[in-house]
Amino acid sequence: MLQLEGVRKSFGDTEVLRGLDLTVREGQVVVLIGASGSGKSTLLRCVNLLEVVDDGRITLEGEDVTDPRVDADAVRARMGVVFQAYNLFPHLTVLENTTLAPVRVHKVPKAEARERAMAMLERVGLAEKASARPDDLSGGQQQRVAIARALVNQPRLMLLDEVTSALDPELVGEVLDLLRELKDEGMTMVLNTHEIGFARQVADTVCFLHGGVVHEEGPPEQVLGDPREERTRRFLSRVH
Ligand code: ADP
Ligand code: MG
Repeated sequence: MLQLEGVRKSFGDTEVLRGLDLTVREGQVVVLIGASGSGKSTLLRCVNLLEVVDDGRITLEGEDVTDPRVDADAVRARMGVVFQAYNLFPHLTVLENTTLAPVRVHKVPKAEARERAMAMLERVGLAEKASARPDDLSGGQQQRVAIARALVNQPRLMLLDEVTSALDPELVGEVLDLLRELKDEGMTMVLNTHEIGFARQVADTVCFLHGGVVHEEGPPEQVLGDPREERTRRFLSRVH
């Protein structure tokens, strides 16, 4: 589904990604962990073409998306992205937020976009909030709307950047439950999280980022339960 080979990315003198390799198979959930500043968000932004890589290659379903001739909008249309801050438009209703991209970007007829959006709001359990404004929802509900909005374009791959870290602890569960359901439905996902417990439950593969590369990678029970690398061990002892 997704392959990163030798990806390099610097900001000024700071080399954030230093030849990073990563493979994500269809239906797999890959969880990125690592210290703050280790490049987790940068990695997702490179995959979504929000950042241009300095070197290396990113392949999505066999297509080299780092080729400068690629149609970036067409590539982005195949991915659903959810960030830490829900980024909903406060002046639009939940339904309008969810139909905006299909109508404006993907030129889906309004009635069809509405139908798809309602189906996705139903999917995340918020159909009855369709005409509410984001401010009238809890943080967890807002994040579920953001996930519905990302799903409405039927992405092949979901990228989720710390989607629970802005939430009050009691609201984290409902978002994690939704992600777990998406996994069970076969959605391919790459996500960053501080929730080590969640990573353990949902990940097929955990990748520990350190020094601009994937320093250790493996099934959650191994990387989180019995890390081979000293650096991984040290990181986990700090976050646990
Ligand atoms: P993480 O998500 O793992 O906390 P980030 O990918 O956000 O890490 O950041 C990695 C490093 O890159 C940090 O040192 C950060 O300050 C730097 N960085 C990220 N984005 C930019 C940017 N647009 N301009 C300059 N520096 C950036
Ligand atoms: Mg980050």
